[in-house]
Amino acid sequence: MDTRSYRERTIDGHALRPESLMMSYGYDPQLSEGALKSPIFQTSTFVFKTAEEGKAFFELAYGLRQKRPAEEPGLIYSRINNPDLEILEDRLTIWDGAEAGLAFSSGMAAIATTLLTFLRPGDVIVHSEPIYGGTDFLVHRILPQFDIRRFGFAAGAEGALERAVEQARGLGRVAILYVETPANPTNTLVDLERCAAVARALGDGGGRPLVAVDNTFLGPLWQKPLEHGADLVLYSLTKYVGGHSDLIAGACLGGEPLIAPVRGMRTILGTMADAWTGWLVMRSLETLKLRMTSQMKNARYVAEFLADHPKVKRVLYLGFLEHGDPQHDIYHRQCEAAGSTFSFEIHGGEAEAFGILNALKLVKLAVSLGGTESLAEHPATMTHSDIPREAQERMGITPGLIRISVGIEHPEDVIADLAQALAAV
Ligand SMILES: *Cc1c(COP(=O)(O)O)cnc(C)c1O
Repeated sequence: MDTRSYRERTIDGHALRPESLMMSYGYDPQLSEGALKSPIFQTSTFVFKTAEEGKAFFELAYGLRQKRPAEEPGLIYSRINNPDLEILEDRLTIWDGAEAGLAFSSGMAAIATTLLTFLRPGDVIVHSEPIYGGTDFLVHRILPQFDIRRFGFAAGAEGALERAVEQARGLGRVAILYVETPANPTNTLVDLERCAAVARALGDGGGRPLVAVDNTFLGPLWQKPLEHGADLVLYSLTKYVGGHSDLIAGACLGGEPLIAPVRGMRTILGTMADAWTGWLVMRSLETLKLRMTSQMKNARYVAEFLADHPKVKRVLYLGFLEHGDPQHDIYHRQCEAAGSTFSFEIHGGEAEAFGILNALKLVKLAVSLGGTESLAEHPATMTHSDIPREAQERMGITPGLIRISVGIEHPEDVIADLAQALAAV
């Protein structure tokens, strides 16, 4: 085996699938005493062989000169780079077909660092609604302190994106089109190709807004935004990618020209993930396809059970979209499967929803999603409680709505638990 083979993605012209690359890609055992698994590089700093080498590493890290052919960036200090992050980043890029990627200490660290890289005072960010609570707080409460304004458009509403962009242009330069699809907790889809077309129409090259997509809910298996015209993909790795509800991390992926300034911002803000978290996410990536596939299959059984239940009014599951619905068309173009986080509305309000949540035994009452265990929560009073009541109603976040993230348990056990909880109210 030649020493470069750890970066091979093909065998005799046969392209290896992402799941086959997750165990070894980007890691050279010969650099670590032959260890099969990457060690945890629990170190703050790295020893240079010579002063000249240290100088060269800094020149590259700070962009003081172009990289020479075949020159690799050297290890300097763990806020700038660390082997566990570099290997993880190489593996993350594979799923989305991205050129480059960065790992962060949380999904919010990834989102905030990326937005601060590309937004300037006077700019406007146009975003889909609803969006994740932390992101919502960032655009409503933090960014305005830097004279950056926002304009929201309702996910799924015909013409809403175009109208929002037109109005936003009156406020300032539209620098970012920020999209979360499917929207949480309603699973409403936003058409990414349409977003990319709207962005392009605002001017080519430097003038047009970047399309940034939070792909936490369906990615990286069931939706690949870069293939639909997005410029940047963001993740909370805490959810499906981490998958065991035991870590907090985030990522930003895209072309190297866009990732390079985000990398520089990350170095200065210090929002990178640590070596131990990077190692844990690599552990998780090995089973990502197994877990997400099992969860996706289980979720269909659970959704079908709920849809047939007399106490359930509606189930907002992507697999139930019908022909003729514009959302169905987007789903077929953009998504490869329905995922495993969805909401259902029961007959009744908060009291009945709480009764069900309190009666659950196997399914745990907790926010977050994407882990091996099934979780349920009440969006109106928990994850989306800071959205005013009328806005909640407009977005379909009713008092009878329960969100569930289906795990890898036996689906009949999850259904038995839901059946007894529904019977209890
Ligand atoms: C959880 C989540 C985030 C924030 O991620 P953290 O890792 O908790 O910082 C962002 N977007 C979505 C869609 C999420 O579900």
